[in-house]
Amino acid sequence: MLAIINATLCMPDHFIPNASILIEDGVIVDFGKKLEIPACAEVFDAQGLYVGPGLVDIHTHADGETWFYDDPVKCSKRLLDHGVTTVLPTLYYSLNKEQFLEAIDKIDSFAEKGEMPNFAGYYMEGPYLNPNFGCDRENNPWKGPIKKEDYEEILNKVSKTAKVWALSPEREGNMDFVRDVKAKIPNIVFTVAHSEATPDQIEELMPLGLKIGTHHTNATGTLESFPECRGVCVDEAVNYNSDIYAELICDSMGIHVHPYNLRLLTKIKGKEKIILISDSCVYDGPPIPGCEEAFDICFDWNGEIAGSKMTLDISCRNMMVHTGASVCDVFRYASTNPAKAVGFTDVGQIKKGYLANLTIVDQWFNVKNTILKGEIVK
Ligand SMILES: [Zn+2]
Repeated sequence: MLAIINATLCMPDHFIPNASILIEDGVIVDFGKKLEIPACAEVFDAQGLYVGPGLVDIHTHADGETWFYDDPVKCSKRLLDHGVTTVLPTLYYSLNKEQFLEAIDKIDSFAEKGEMPNFAGYYMEGPYLNPNFGCDRENNPWKGPIKKEDYEEILNKVSKTAKVWALSPEREGNMDFVRDVKAKIPNIVFTVAHSEATPDQIEELMPLGLKIGTHHTNATGTLESFPECRGVCVDEAVNYNSDIYAELICDSMGIHVHPYNLRLLTKIKGKEKIILISDSCVYDGPPIPGCEEAFDICFDWNGEIAGSKMTLDISCRNMMVHTGASVCDVFRYASTNPAKAVGFTDVGQIKKGYLANLTIVDQWFNVKNTILKGEIVK
């Protein structure tokens, strides 16, 4: 048994100071103030720091340095060091079919050997995205018609592991694709991504499981309307539908999402429907003018913003800075909400019977310790 004492527990909407957590067989068996600590327990003193549910990064291609498919074990380990106890490695449209299959085989093999203990499945970002929205108009390997023979093998390979599937609803033939994915993976969560879909096209997919707006406000269409009148695009549909979660890449300069928008979104989506992601990538293009100071985001060689160099703890810290969110709030955005959105029922909260996945941070969300299934791994 492990007893964490002297902890400030971060619950979804309140703190419990001077508290303890009891862990047995990797599971939280009790928590709260004035707990009796059994004599046999190994005691870990949290020194008054904040103890929250382990971070859940549902959307990241890398660990802030290296692509997942290049070194899955290193990525898994580095993310654990940054408090991420659940991760969905994200595979992008930029891979062609063979590369998708190869990446999945490679990551699967390490996960099956137990070398990626925080691996929880895949976030498939494509391949059927709109090439006009951050998806390489010229070289997009998937810009042709959507054909079953192209995606079937990939779908079969991830039928037990894909948790989230991102797509652009407006692409012709995507409805058949969605039905095939849904038939194979009934609990799949769809997202609207890299898209200029109309609200109607997005809402049509909600009964089939669309419930996340991928990196909200990035690559999310154009506001076409009459001159001088604001139109509607993907962002409006995500904002309007309270069942849709908004993923936010929260970088230090507020480039992916403007700090004013972050504050606005806290109002519109409420604390229940914000998901922080890192969307970490590995591109080394030069900064675009005006972004020279942006050390935590990536630029591609087409002069576009291309994901971040962050781990999720950094995204949490930036969210606190930009919106005045509390440590409690950001644990909710980076653990409770993503776990709920994806349908994980044993992580994302400090709760009896849940896995003892815990992240211990200071007041500025610097990760001091990570506990994975009751084991102190950092
Ligand atoms: Zn991504």
